[in-house]
Amino acid sequence: MMLDSMRAEEEAKIKGGEDAVAWVKKELCIGCDQCTIVCDDDAIELYDTPLASPIMEVEVNRKARILRDECTGCKLCVLGCPTDAIIMIDR
Ligand code: SF4
Ligand code: SF4
Repeated sequence: MMLDSMRAEEEAKIKGGEDAVAWVKKELCIGCDQCTIVCDDDAIELYDTPLASPIMEVEVNRKARILRDECTGCKLCVLGCPTDAIIMIDR
């Protein structure tokens, strides 16, 4: 109950709606695909990126990007991203 109200408070602080659009902070994105699952509007896609370092062993090297025209500003992806890689910005 307590957690629910804290979460609601947190959500209320994030701007959203038609004047806002999601933005991925590339450096924080780990390509986990959670945001594409929660986005009901097909406004996020993952793309392959080159390895930051050839000596690093990473299985997945993908990043998310927002399709601005499709994004409705619903904020679901911000809440769903485990690394806080998504923010809402002015459209
Ligand atoms: S949920 Fe966050 S970390 Fe995962 S792919 Fe989306 S933006 Fe990247
Ligand atoms: S704000 Fe909503 S519509 Fe926009 S990318 Fe995130 S989940 Fe999709």
